[in-house]
Amino acid sequence: MAQDTIVVGAGVAGLECARRLQRAGRSVVVLEKARRVGGRCATRRFEGQPVDVGPMFFHGQEPAFLEALDEVAGVTVLEGWPGRVEGGGAPCQPGALDPSTRHFAFAEGMNAFTRHLAEGLNVRLQTTVTRIRPVGAEFEATAGDGTTFRGRNLVLALALEETRAFLATLPASPELASVQALLAMFFSVPSLTVIAGYPVGANTPPWDLLFPDPSEALQLIAHDSAKRRDPRFLTLVYQARPRWSRARLEQPMVEWSPELIEAAGAVLGPWALRPLWTFPHRWRYARVDRSCELARPVRLKLPQGPSLGLAGDVFTPGGGVQAAWLSGARLAESLLQED
Ligand SMILES: Cc1cc2nc3c(=O)[nH]c(=O)nc-3n(C[C@H](O)[C@H](O)[C@H](O)COP(=O)(O)OP(=O)(O)OC[C@H]3O[C@@H](n4cnc5c(N)ncnc54)[C@H](O)[C@@H]3O)c2cc1C
Repeated sequence: MAQDTIVVGAGVAGLECARRLQRAGRSVVVLEKARRVGGRCATRRFEGQPVDVGPMFFHGQEPAFLEALDEVAGVTVLEGWPGRVEGGGAPCQPGALDPSTRHFAFAEGMNAFTRHLAEGLNVRLQTTVTRIRPVGAEFEATAGDGTTFRGRNLVLALALEETRAFLATLPASPELASVQALLAMFFSVPSLTVIAGYPVGANTPPWDLLFPDPSEALQLIAHDSAKRRDPRFLTLVYQARPRWSRARLEQPMVEWSPELIEAAGAVLGPWALRPLWTFPHRWRYARVDRSCELARPVRLKLPQGPSLGLAGDVFTPGGGVQAAWLSGARLAESLLQED
């Protein structure tokens, strides 16, 4: 099926890129391997209660990004969340809580934003792209079930390492080699995460976020249920430090998940060792490393003619949700300008 543009990845970057292209009259298909849109901007539901699994709140200074968030309809905006921050550890994005940075959450969860971005788009969920290749003046993307998609432009809006893996399969060219050399300088950091549900009532923490100071394992404990209306559970999200996560990345979840709960118990007290339920999640590529300072999305014209665009959080200084959104927006504008 021929499109103007194929976007691989329905995270913040891919969705914003696709949205702008479609608004300008382009035919776009978004191919996403997961069962839902959003990528790392992820929210899961436990007996109906939303819990954010990736970023816990929005933060940014770019007016266009903040306006896009303000356009999300039907959500309760928790302006200023997290208001109660404790602990001496460092947030992964040091500027996130600066007074000059707006920060807030949605009571409905972070992925209300990506569901909003996806409205009206042709998104094919559970469609894992396994191969991309130029065919004449077009790109072809093949999904795991053998379905093929053709487009004049192909956009990869993936985590850095996932993008690199696709680039390695393309026919060699000097331009491609220089992009590969550039991207080889950066890397993503992992985060092993456990969501733990406890009875509501006793032990409600007096903070929204805690950055445990002496913990070797824990980077952050988020009091997620503080964002929810009438929560059924006290929900805490335990995010592990990159080094701790890297050392256990290939281990089964049943091994590292109790270890992280134990670390939480050491910080919070014995009650935290006895959650009603837990849900572990392995973020292999959680965030780009702080050294990532690529200024803009990459455009690449292959010798045969089709055009490849690269977006995602690595393509804007600082990384994170705002960076991903900006990269998608800028890539779309660049594609539209050229034609
Ligand atoms: C635990 C954690 C904490 C974080 N904390 C913060 C924070 O405090 N502040 C902040 O700003 N950011 C934070 N981030 C980072 C932020 O979530 C990301 O930078 C941002 O969401 C990246 O968006 P993206 O669109 O670039 O990529 P992604 O969200 O990764 O989107 C890529 C999409 O591509 C899909 N995909 C991958 N391979 C294929 C394939 N072969 N075929 C089809 N689809 C494919 C994936 O399923 C995914 O949906 C955090 C992330 C995590 C995990």
